[in-house]
Amino acid sequence: MSHGEFAFIRDHLLPLTRGDRAALELSDDAACLELSGNSLLASDMLVEGVHFLRSDGPAVAAQRAFGSNLSDLAAMGAIPRGFLCTVCWPTRYSTADREAFVDALGVVAAAENLALLGGDMTRADAPLTISLTMIGETTSDPLRRNGAKPGDQLFVSGTIGDAVLGLSIAKGELDKQDFLLERYQRPQARIELGQTLLNKATACIDISDGLAADAQHLARESGVGLEIEGALIPWSAPVLHWLENEGRAGVETLITGGDDYELLFTAPVEHAASILALKRTLGVDVTWIGQVVEGEGVRIQDEMGVPLDIETSGFTHF
Ligand SMILES: [Mg+2]
Repeated sequence: MSHGEFAFIRDHLLPLTRGDRAALELSDDAACLELSGNSLLASDMLVEGVHFLRSDGPAVAAQRAFGSNLSDLAAMGAIPRGFLCTVCWPTRYSTADREAFVDALGVVAAAENLALLGGDMTRADAPLTISLTMIGETTSDPLRRNGAKPGDQLFVSGTIGDAVLGLSIAKGELDKQDFLLERYQRPQARIELGQTLLNKATACIDISDGLAADAQHLARESGVGLEIEGALIPWSAPVLHWLENEGRAGVETLITGGDDYELLFTAPVEHAASILALKRTLGVDVTWIGQVVEGEGVRIQDEMGVPLDIETSGFTHF
């Protein structure tokens, strides 16, 4: 390790361990973490030009990598315990670019009180490539995608479609609106909600590929069908405003766009009241949007009961 690398670790990465002893001050070959109950591990890779724009810059790349990875732990109701960060810096990156990435990662991780436990960094003539590994635990059975039963109710947290419009803003295709841009640039994982849903929800998934596609994933894993009332899908005020001129095609864009990082989950009717009350207790909007039925697939219908003809395959990475 060169002196420069050592100084970078000491000055910029070591603070991200937040004094967590498991990191062993980033001076050993591996971290040493003691976990109780079920250990949950999730890893995701983001590549510049594929999962974020080159023009987003290093800080936004870090925020998106962190939020999207953490969202996978939220989907299973896990308590996050730490994370590993592996990055390939493009050769064009200056020290200031690397610092901007690490500093932004430190801010979002501190907001979740989450420690960096290790990882690796290298440099190549390649696009910025980031892989985070999230480590979490649950004391009871984690939430899975496969437990939805006919008769269960279907809920979604937050609002849908903000990030896909945020991406359009980042591309310069839409006028800037801070709320939408922030939803794209800094995803917020629903960690607390996920933990609250343990022992309540029968199935849960985080929405990364779009409401339609992730509903499809949940339906398939549970071996059920899902009926979604299109008129009940929650939109934010800026999205509602945008929809005024877009109509049905706009709804398709919003539910197939992805990057929402909201939770889509099912629960028996008897838990519906306590789930809808989470807005008061957790401050997270939860909306009832439909139900689980016998059969397969996802049917999204408008207020007249006419099915929306949507492509539910969602974002594909290849
Ligand atoms: Mg996921």
